[in-house]
Amino acid sequence: MSGAPLQPGATIGIIGGGQLGRMLAMAAARFGYTIAVLDPSKDCPAAQVATTLIVGPYDDEPTLRCLFEMSDVVTYEFENVPVEPVRAVIGDTPLHPPAEALEVSQDRVVEKAFLNGIGVATAEWRAIDTADELGHALLDLGGDCILKTRRFGYDGKGQARINAETTFTDAFEEIGRAPAILEKKVPFAFELSVIAARGQSGEIVAYDPAENVHTLGILKTSTVPGQITAEIAERAKAMASQILTHLNYVGVIGVEFFVGKDGTLVVNEIAPRVHNSGHWTEAACLCSQFEQHIRAIAGLPLAPTDRHFACVMENLIGDDVAQFDALVAEPAAVLHLYGKAEARRGRKMGHVTRVKARTSGI
Ligand code: ADP
Ligand code: MG
Repeated sequence: MSGAPLQPGATIGIIGGGQLGRMLAMAAARFGYTIAVLDPSKDCPAAQVATTLIVGPYDDEPTLRCLFEMSDVVTYEFENVPVEPVRAVIGDTPLHPPAEALEVSQDRVVEKAFLNGIGVATAEWRAIDTADELGHALLDLGGDCILKTRRFGYDGKGQARINAETTFTDAFEEIGRAPAILEKKVPFAFELSVIAARGQSGEIVAYDPAENVHTLGILKTSTVPGQITAEIAERAKAMASQILTHLNYVGVIGVEFFVGKDGTLVVNEIAPRVHNSGHWTEAACLCSQFEQHIRAIAGLPLAPTDRHFACVMENLIGDDVAQFDALVAEPAAVLHLYGKAEARRGRKMGHVTRVKARTSGI
């Protein structure tokens, strides 16, 4: 479906007012759009930049209806948006990306089955409902494995490693005996992600992949280009593009990959939204992932994804943000804070992207 381009003054609705919603709202504001955000907390990061904030639960139909009725298009900043209440209120207001993208990415089993179904490689996996099934699946897959809850995992939460020293019943307890997926551990050389976008007429663009390093399950740095060769980058972009097409997607997607020593690419997971590993685009590209997403959902032309710097994005987690004076004084860095009052341990407070100028001779 291809709508007329949204004009300045139109309203973009965003489900979720965390830092991603905040940065989407800021990008939308630059095109003169009005922004309505729905979040359960009046103090959410997007509250400081939204035109209208609707405070309420995500699964409440009257609250969702209010957002859809005041918006010309609705999008979301997280994949755990409750699908049924959203479908019930959608009416004539387009939802981008589509609800199917939520269904696929909310459940790790559905996600893996979808990816394998379109010919995209993942870790070997088995769906797990009981401790018995877990025992059998471990024998079947062999070696080190990771048990993950099917739903609601993020930043490494809801996961238990299983190796020779751990018993599988302990691992099942650790994730609260929730419906799960058992994944064989992929012996990757490094991790990368692709941020790509699909517009309403089906055109696709992709940013250069970033090499990602996680600390305690939380993304710490994204480095571009890092150790990613042009050949690996092209293959990863092509796989992201294939996923976008199959989902009939509109908007920005984040696709996380494991890269083997021989360059083999395996998809870890997909996020139907702007992604933490794409924050560097605001410093190294003319059009950030946030603007690109707004362009796609508003029916505007997608923008070039050329990268003008090599760069490293570092997440500022918890107390890291206390270095404000030093960070803001760095000459080759773009600092972005999320306006969160309290710097709790493990909480993403902001990020900084350090760029390395390309020698152009100009
Ligand atoms: P989250 O939703 O918390 O990001 P992920 O499935 O991406 O969950 O897992 C977090 C991290 O754990 C990954 O980025 C990777 O470093 C590691 N990991 C997850 N699954 C596997 C696997 N099958 N093999 C090896 N490492 C894995
Ligand atoms: Mg992940």
